Amino acid sequence: MLLVLLVPTLTALLPFGHAALPLVINTWAFKNASAAAWRALLSGGSVLDAVEQGCARCQVEQCDGSVGYGGSPDESGETTLDAMIINGDTMEVGAVADLRRIKNAIGVARAVMEHTDHTLLVGESASVFAENMGFIAEDLTTNKSVNILSQWLKGNCQPNYRKNVFPDPSQSCGPYKPRAAVRAKKRPRHGNVRSHDTIGVVALDRNGHLAAGTSTNGLTHKVPGRVGDSPIVGAGAYADSSAGGAAATGDGDVMMRFLPSFLAVELMRAGADPSAACETALSRIKRHYSGFFGAIICANTTGHYGAACNKVPGFSQFHFVVSDSESGSPLLKSVDCI
Ligand code: ASP
Repeated sequence: MLLVLLVPTLTALLPFGHAALPLVINTWAFKNASAAAWRALLSGGSVLDAVEQGCARCQVEQCDGSVGYGGSPDESGETTLDAMIINGDTMEVGAVADLRRIKNAIGVARAVMEHTDHTLLVGESASVFAENMGFIAEDLTTNKSVNILSQWLKGNCQPNYRKNVFPDPSQSCGPYKPRAAVRAKKRPRHGNVRSHDTIGVVALDRNGHLAAGTSTNGLTHKVPGRVGDSPIVGAGAYADSSAGGAAATGDGDVMMRFLPSFLAVELMRAGADPSAACETALSRIKRHYSGFFGAIICANTTGHYGAACNKVPGFSQFHFVVSDSESGSPLLKSVDCI
């Protein structure tokens, strides 16, 4: 009897959640993406289908303006897309980076996985590949992205990601020329909590098949050609059906230096619970970049899940969404940042 009374209390106290499989977990409060991924699983689709459909939903909805077309224009005003998908059973991966003129970046990433022996295609050549695979080429610019660019130009191109160039990028627009590198103190990071967000999805079915994926338009005002963490295996996402899956979001320029998704999965393989794995993966980054903006979601092979985020001004709580067979619909969850 005592045990019966204690179980609900203990469950509430557990530092991480447990889902009745199948499970879909995704970054940010993107509930429609979770619902789309969930529908894919319910209608007999695979975990790869769930990840693809979840990311695709956000691409269409332009989630937070930072997924899909018309968001995060680079210095020249162009929106470019990064996406990745990984099969945790076979360790096959498909990814695209700096993709231009094609809206469905996660679809192209999956096509890279299914129609080539490669892992990552980039830039113009990725767009040509996509067109050959039947994806439609169209302009990714919208009135909103044009406005973002014109505001940036009016504000002397601030924020600005260049350094050691002339004219001074903290005060003037380019074109820039290199100047001798100044070994200055570490500069504060520009990326604020509104200038980027990625959808990252991890899906796990009842048979233990795991997949993960990401889709984003990256960082607003980036230097053209910049690729973030999202399409990089082990950085933006990682999945191994024998250990777990993870997906990250935040300041990709910093986060990709630490492969946090890979680290989190390896920590879960070693027995860490998903919350602890997520926290440790971010702590590694924090040691070097205490003020970085970032968050990560983690799920292990038994359906336990967790999340973590790094506390910075304006970002003290991270939202993520979970769908499982108990809830049957997307549940918004949150975690306090460390
Ligand atoms: N990580 C993405 C990037 O840096 C953006 C984000 O998730 O906020 O491209």
